[in-house]
Amino acid sequence: MTDHQPTSDYPALKLHVDGAWIGVGDRRVHQVIDPATGQVLGDLPLADMADLDRALDAAARAYPRWRAVPALERGAILRKAAQLLRDRAESIARNATREEGKTLAETRIEVMAAAGLFDFYAEEARRIYGRVLVRPAGQRSLVVHEPVGPVAAFAPWNFPIHNPARKLGAPIAAGCPVILKPAEEAPASAMAVVQALIDAGLPDGVCQLVFGVPDEVSRHLLASPVIRKLSFTGSTSVGKHLMKLAADTMKRTTLELGGHAPVIIFDDCDLDRTVEALAVGKARNAGQVCVSPTRFYVQEGIYERFVAALAERMGQIRVGNGLDPAVGMGPMANPRRPAAMAQLIGDALGKGARLRTGGEAIPGAGYFWQPTLLSDVPNEARIMNEEPFGPVVVAAPFRDLDDAVEQANRLPFGLAAFAFTENARRANLIGDAIEAGMVGINTVLLAAPDAPFGGIKESGHGAEDGPEGLAACLVTKTIHQV
Ligand code: NAD
Repeated sequence: MTDHQPTSDYPALKLHVDGAWIGVGDRRVHQVIDPATGQVLGDLPLADMADLDRALDAAARAYPRWRAVPALERGAILRKAAQLLRDRAESIARNATREEGKTLAETRIEVMAAAGLFDFYAEEARRIYGRVLVRPAGQRSLVVHEPVGPVAAFAPWNFPIHNPARKLGAPIAAGCPVILKPAEEAPASAMAVVQALIDAGLPDGVCQLVFGVPDEVSRHLLASPVIRKLSFTGSTSVGKHLMKLAADTMKRTTLELGGHAPVIIFDDCDLDRTVEALAVGKARNAGQVCVSPTRFYVQEGIYERFVAALAERMGQIRVGNGLDPAVGMGPMANPRRPAAMAQLIGDALGKGARLRTGGEAIPGAGYFWQPTLLSDVPNEARIMNEEPFGPVVVAAPFRDLDDAVEQANRLPFGLAAFAFTENARRANLIGDAIEAGMVGINTVLLAAPDAPFGGIKESGHGAEDGPEGLAACLVTKTIHQV
């Protein structure tokens, strides 16, 4: 235990195992830091092997009971949890801003998005249908969908409320218990989501919350035959590693991994609206979003004009503590991010990129980085190939649609892609040609409860959200009867 006192309105941090909240005790701890101030917010208990074994045992016991609960009752609990999240939105949002850094406006939206997702799956639970196959008289063949079983879910820090909600809503609706390990950087937000479900009446063992040393937790949970599915959101490298661990016991996987979203800006776009949407979209969560617009391919005729206008608008974004309502962009979430930004931007400048705005850390407390635009960035620069996960735009010109598509599809990632054009034919062509799980045309907003969210290629597989997110928590059984 460290000797500081936790900040007053920040909760004591706990695990939730087999129906009980568990404090630090004699466990190891992780210090949770406010990225805007560097202040310690609290000590997080890290689960030991005995905690994980109790969670596995509780999940195994909860599974047959929970899958037997009628879908309408499972839905009613999710709906009540959604309402509790809305009722508690202000305090949840404040704590999320303090532990993750993004602005209060963004964390408020996150609470509402999490509630919207629970509402959606509350409805969807009753729509788990099967099929009856045509057979001779007196015979039947049935196709039924059953819950996959206990899920081990790992959620990252960048959407501290919505990521945990995504890992919980669909499996709980489907009848699966979940052991959730959110990121150690933002635990109070995940606790609030779990608390809403418990207060809504979710039985013990259906939703358990553990924090720990990520590699220890994932190895232990994924080695267990109790766990039937892995759900992970995070980097491609960690996703590949976890998929290998899951293969030993042939677990199902949903992997939402890194991206490097191309943005194709045609010369017929509405320039003012495009600049505004992209400047605001890039600042969202300081660029630490898997679908953040990043590689800007701008058609030659408007390249200089567009880059100058975007640099000017990005330079106007006010950076500061996300609790300040006048701020448009908060700090980065942890010290790893500004360190990565410095390396990638330095490498690009060394390879001939031009700095148009920003480019540096903001001195003082916290992990602040200036909104940054680099133009004329060559493909050899690391930043054109590695996900920067920060508030940086990299721009390069393109000639025609074929050239743009070739550049956009050049990388092994395929999560999100964007295009801006007022020409419907171009919009259709680009929508078809882009290799990505999600395409935004004249918009950077891609997430909605009813819309599948996920990638292709090395950005992962298996969508979350929408009916597809529920289907990913089900297995198929065929029953032939003569
Ligand atoms: P990281 O790769 O170390 O971790 C990413 C996430 O995976 C974290 O939440 C972490 O707790 C978890 N993790 C790491 N190792 C794990 C393991 N062995 N078992 C289980 N979970 C594990 O990177 P980071 O510094 O936290 O984040 C930076 C990179 O992660 C970014 O560059 C980005 O590519 C990726 N990322 C992606 C998303 C997304 O929404 N797809 C979100 C956050 C981070």
